Amino acid sequence: MEQKPKYYLIMAGSTNHMLRGDQLLKDSGLKTALVPAPSEYGSVCAIAIKVKTEDLKQAEVILKENEIKLEGIYPEIPKKLSGLVEKLYQSVISDDFLMILKKVEEGEELSFEDIVRLLKTERKAEMDALFDAADRMRKEIIGDTVDIRGAIEFSNICRKDCKYCGVRKSLNDLKRYRMSEDEIMDVVHQIHKIGLQTVILQSGEDLWWTPEKIVSIIKRIKKETGMRITLSIGERPKEEYALYKKMGADNFLLKIETTNKDIFKFIHPDDDFNIRKQCSSWLRELGYLNGSGNIIGLPGQRVEDIARDIIYFKEMGINMIGIGPFLPAKGTPFEKYPPGSVDMTLKAVAVTRIVCKRVFLPATTALATLDPDGQTKALKAGANTIMLINTPVKYRYNYQIYSEKNMVDLESAYKAITESGRKFPPYLKIDLEELKDAGDTKK
Ligand code: SF4
Repeated sequence: MEQKPKYYLIMAGSTNHMLRGDQLLKDSGLKTALVPAPSEYGSVCAIAIKVKTEDLKQAEVILKENEIKLEGIYPEIPKKLSGLVEKLYQSVISDDFLMILKKVEEGEELSFEDIVRLLKTERKAEMDALFDAADRMRKEIIGDTVDIRGAIEFSNICRKDCKYCGVRKSLNDLKRYRMSEDEIMDVVHQIHKIGLQTVILQSGEDLWWTPEKIVSIIKRIKKETGMRITLSIGERPKEEYALYKKMGADNFLLKIETTNKDIFKFIHPDDDFNIRKQCSSWLRELGYLNGSGNIIGLPGQRVEDIARDIIYFKEMGINMIGIGPFLPAKGTPFEKYPPGSVDMTLKAVAVTRIVCKRVFLPATTALATLDPDGQTKALKAGANTIMLINTPVKYRYNYQIYSEKNMVDLESAYKAITESGRKFPPYLKIDLEELKDAGDTKK
């Protein structure tokens, strides 16, 4: 007999209708969640309202009464990974760990306790099983192609003093820079020439970059290249976010860093957790492909905090999640703190893939900095994106959020993609043989 679905996914006709509908349902006492919609129901950035099957009828009535436009209502089909556990019976894996993987195999949701248990394992066989499960989930949901994006760190001037950050405002020795619009456009054209489709414009919270200046760059990028634009320029008023979206920005990256409010406050003397979260909600509301992420190994952080971060990403409907290890930066209050663990970062990547499923998960530069094979390992543990650092050489060494930053270039991306047995994106316009030769010569 066919099983009744536990949940339904409601796809609204627009982001505004989706958000208004979700709020109306919540106000009526229904438990809902905003989740990335499965590929069969929408594009990678589409978000759906998830409701329990027993609440569906009531939800439909509420939405209809309030004239919320709907595109469709679909049963949630759990992503099953058949045969996942069977091959593990011969391995040295505890029964409770195996039971959690069985839940993954059956497409069941993991509880907070399950997530903590997965993250806490230090047994090699269990970690391998976790990475394999995440890799399988990534393959079935997203496929083998690694998305490559190009980042330009266009200003290292910042009004804030985050304690871990290598460009914080109190660092007097740092040579500060702002790239000019033409300098930025030169790099955008280089990135465009090699076929990349998304450019990430990243900076400190530098208010010299007024809305007019940011809009001018967005317009030029769209007009001259048509590339997708990710902004990563920090906290700004909602009206500004709305303006950038209207002018053509597609994605926004604003990391929460940690959902533990005490740690958040400790590491961010100028910030307020609720404002950061509010900014992230605005970005989602405005229809951005919404990026967030966390740092693994922050002072005082516990495994339970990382589990809560992962649940936050899921509940906030985050589409791009950058998970990197903490790396001490010279001259900062945290310079003597030990770096985060590669294994814990990889476990967090893997569990995030399993829990959040259809999201962009970068193999981060921070991981590549701590471990030369870090990106390959991340790509084998659920990651599907690589961000190249395209900041001009004369500036890039002054944009080190942490010290000894690995400057991920096409050659290292080539290495990570080939070593992990993955595919290059079809849009790349470069000779892969040349890259291979360049890598071989360096060895
Ligand atoms: S983390 Fe971002 S906001 Fe904080 S000091 Fe560094 S650049 Fe500025």
